[in-house]
Amino acid sequence: MHDHPTDLTEYEWPVCVTPGCGRQLWVSEAGRWACRPDEDATAKRLAELPALFRQLDTTAALMRGARRIGGGGSGSKNPPIPPRLEVLALVGPGGVAARLSAIEDSWRTALGWTVAPWRGSPAEAVPHLVKFLTDNLLWACGGYESVGQDVEAVRKLHGECSAIVNDKPKYGNVKIGLCPVVIEDRLCAEQLYASARSFKTACPACRSRWEGEEEWRQLRAAQEQILAEAAGVAA
Ligand SMILES: [Zn+2]
Ligand SMILES: [Zn+2]
Repeated sequence: MHDHPTDLTEYEWPVCVTPGCGRQLWVSEAGRWACRPDEDATAKRLAELPALFRQLDTTAALMRGARRIGGGGSGSKNPPIPPRLEVLALVGPGGVAARLSAIEDSWRTALGWTVAPWRGSPAEAVPHLVKFLTDNLLWACGGYESVGQDVEAVRKLHGECSAIVNDKPKYGNVKIGLCPVVIEDRLCAEQLYASARSFKTACPACRSRWEGEEEWRQLRAAQEQILAEAAGVAA
């Protein structure tokens, strides 16, 4: 555990190893590397990660299947919406799963355990990775000198995921019609908002974005086309 110097002038109360934490460990926490609050916060973040991952994975799937319609008239197919790269990176092979798996590997090495089994695709692996880390978190906080960097890594990962999942674009409070993006043959139809000052909006549901006058005109044209089609169906 922590080294206790023999020279009393160097004696300092042990502090938590998590970067930026620096809490002094309580007497009841003697023999730990990371403090109890960090353990609790890490457990909570780990518990939330599988649901956050599922939401990002769903968003990524929607982005892959989404197309803008209209804008060119006469049924011309427009290219897919540029995906938000952060989302694809987090659900991809180098994302959440890989980052959790790196922590598992270092813990297994420290414990002298065999390497982790193959856990399948990121979507399949994340719940297993989270379970392993949760089950061994108490050991890590007490027995793994480098646990601080992992507490920090989980905090960052959780922060990146929840920032995207909870990101409701705020582009003002003027209603500018419904989202005209078609996803898997269904209209998104989420309410879009903008401010009166800029040609800028984004859909809170499918995350499509329109920026600048040209894209704004395409958005308008697509919305009008849908209204016209709806009127045609009703007539
Ligand atoms: Zn701490
Ligand atoms: Zn939308």
